[in-house]
Formats: sequence, structure tokens, C-alpha cells
Amino acid sequence: MRLLVADVSGKDEEKRPLVIVNPKIVATGDDASVYEEGCLSIPDYYAEVERPASVTVAYQDAHGHKHELVAEGLLATCLQHEIDHLNGILFIDHISRLKREMVIRKFRKLAKERAEKPAL
Ligand SMILES: [Zn+2]
Repeated sequence: MRLLVADVSGKDEEKRPLVIVNPKIVATGDDASVYEEGCLSIPDYYAEVERPASVTVAYQDAHGHKHELVAEGLLATCLQHEIDHLNGILFIDHISRLKREMVIRKFRKLAKERAEKPAL
């Protein structure tokens, strides 16, 4: 099973988690949009990523019922980001090689510093 839960509601809005099982992007719009993305897998790093502005996603809900969703705006970006995760792809895989290598170097350095620190 490939599963994601997404909620793009605002801070003061009612929460609307979307449970998406076995998603597949079946169509993408012609227009592109750019969002500054971040990710819990890569803390404190944000970068502009260009993706299709709209996507059609086929998926099953928590009860196994099939659905197709046309997403635009933030939800379209969020679903593409999360579906990428299910495919082993991170948002830094969509930025320039130079920027990606800078991020990887930074995290390698951090990991080395933490490994060298004596355990408390
Ligand atoms: Zn992420």
C-alpha cells in the first residue's frame, strides 16, 4: 500500500485531511506554477520548485473506494510533493544540481559534527 495524508487548510480553518491510497497522477495541466517548498525530511531548507499547476490524481480512499481528483494551487503542489516521496524523490531532486549539491554538503557536514559530539 502507498499512502499519504494531506491537509492544505489554513491555520485558522477547519482541518480537512485527505487520505489518499495508491495515488497515480493520470494527467497534468499545461501551465506551470512555482512554490517555495520545504520538507520535514530536509529541515530548514526551502527552495522554489516548478511543477504543473494542476494534476488529476486517481486514488482510493480509506475504504478502498476509487476516486479521481483534479487539484490546483497549493493542493496540486502538495500532492505532487507527497507522491514524489512515495516514489523516493525529494523536492531537492527538482532544483539545480548546484543547489542540490550545496544542500547535501550542508547536511553531510551537520551529520559529521553530530557524530563527533560526545553523547550526553
Ligand atoms: Zn516532503
